Amino acid sequence: MNRISHWVNNKVVAGTSGKSGKVFNPATGKQESEVDLASIADVDAAIASAKAAFPAWRATNLSRRAEIMFRMRELVDANRKEIASLLTQEHGKVPSDALGEVARGLENIEFACGVPAMLKGGYSEQASTGVDVYSIRQPLGVVAGITPFNFPAMVPMWMFANAIMCGNTFILKPSEKDPSASMFIADLLRQAGLPDGVYNVVHGDKVAVDRLLDHPDIAAVSFVGSTPIAKYVYETGTKNGKRVQALGGAKNHMLVLPDADLDMAADAAISAAYGSAGERCMAVSVVLSVETVADALVEKIKSRVPNIKVGAGTDPASEMGPLISREHRDKVAGYVTGAAKEGATVVIDGTDKAKDEGFFLNPSLIDHVKPGMKCYDEEIFGPVLTVMRVKSYDEGLQTINDNQFGNGTAIFTRDGGVARQFQYEVNVGMVGINVPIPVPVSYYSFGGWKASLFGDQHMYGPEGINFYTRGKVVTSRWPDPRTSQVDLGFPHSR
Ligand code: NAD
Repeated sequence: MNRISHWVNNKVVAGTSGKSGKVFNPATGKQESEVDLASIADVDAAIASAKAAFPAWRATNLSRRAEIMFRMRELVDANRKEIASLLTQEHGKVPSDALGEVARGLENIEFACGVPAMLKGGYSEQASTGVDVYSIRQPLGVVAGITPFNFPAMVPMWMFANAIMCGNTFILKPSEKDPSASMFIADLLRQAGLPDGVYNVVHGDKVAVDRLLDHPDIAAVSFVGSTPIAKYVYETGTKNGKRVQALGGAKNHMLVLPDADLDMAADAAISAAYGSAGERCMAVSVVLSVETVADALVEKIKSRVPNIKVGAGTDPASEMGPLISREHRDKVAGYVTGAAKEGATVVIDGTDKAKDEGFFLNPSLIDHVKPGMKCYDEEIFGPVLTVMRVKSYDEGLQTINDNQFGNGTAIFTRDGGVARQFQYEVNVGMVGINVPIPVPVSYYSFGGWKASLFGDQHMYGPEGINFYTRGKVVTSRWPDPRTSQVDLGFPHSR
């Protein structure tokens, strides 16, 4: 059985806990690997190595840091297929989805190559006579990233690239369900010339997460995962004096107005609902259709669903792969079965596929969904698209704003004025206008509102740089015999 251990000081280090987790190939349902689950001592050892590496890494000049990140950019680019195939093996992604994940992660590494330009401070000459004032941004120290199963390569790249370029040292606690990509990336960073201890990986469960949250040498924690754990990580980490950004779950609505291009809207709904088997925090899970066009839209979506090719990611023709685990697959199937009992109309039931050895479901489509039904109130995180009918734009907007989550949303319309009104009024962090999955490019920042994010700073881009640095303002005067005098008053410039 393949064994996956920790990565500390640029090498693989066996765990000492005696505890391990099972890693499956979701397409076959078979266990392929065993992953070490860290003990407190294992986490402490990784933190100690990151702490020891910090002073020299912080002192490493910006050009040298950028040189390493540029090399990392080349290595990830050259290894796109290898990384993607690890995602297929352990997560189940089909090739187009896995390669897309690597490409979007790579964008963050490319952004990070330019971090020196983001670290320029301000400078005010002659703020007072002979006095200059300037601001600088400095790294925090050892920072941790805790990541979910659904983007095993991209989400770590959201975090470590900027964290390291800002001069921090980093500890990643990836999902124990698909841990291999983080180890492959660790070795690429070593090949790129990153010094020992700057990037470390500890695999684990709650024991490892709790240790990262209470260890005094961890300065900040970036978390991406489900809302209950995001809230827990935020509350525990901040109580322990750490800076925390914790991104949680989602329920993303796509509002379709009567003037929309309905074919474009149906294509978008299919791609955004069933891509990655719906296991995306930016997946469209609810189509809110104004009722005058709802029948036509549901018909168009329904007619497209049978064309989706469900299969293993090793088959190049597959468009939608399996779910991450048997338990999760069964939970998702339960939402479809439950919806009929709650009075919704199951237009397409994809749960027959749940009999396969692999963790597959076919796409499901549920119409006439309402708040109060489980399939609406909870995040499903699977290939289940629900449709809710609303009377008007106003009712659609209200529905979105009443939802507990606020990660992504989209409006489909040809009316620019209404689209602008929507972007102004909607209480959601990432908005698409005729774009169903509006994941911001790497030079903006990613983050939701409400129960989709705990903390102040969104992830990556400019807000990522703010998160991984702290500001210092220097007020400076050089000795000048012409202006020197004793003055016990409070310093001021006028
Ligand atoms: P999860 O919350 O179960 O796990 C995330 C991380 O937390 C993992 O590393 C896991 O080991 C750890 N963890 C799990 N249970 C824990 C506990 N009790 N105590 C401490 N740590 C714990 O999430 P997941 O199932 O891996 O990922 C899917 C979820 O992530 C979905 O809710 C999805 O919406 C969300 N997600 C959000 C974003 C975003 O940007 N907002 C992006 C991707 C995924």
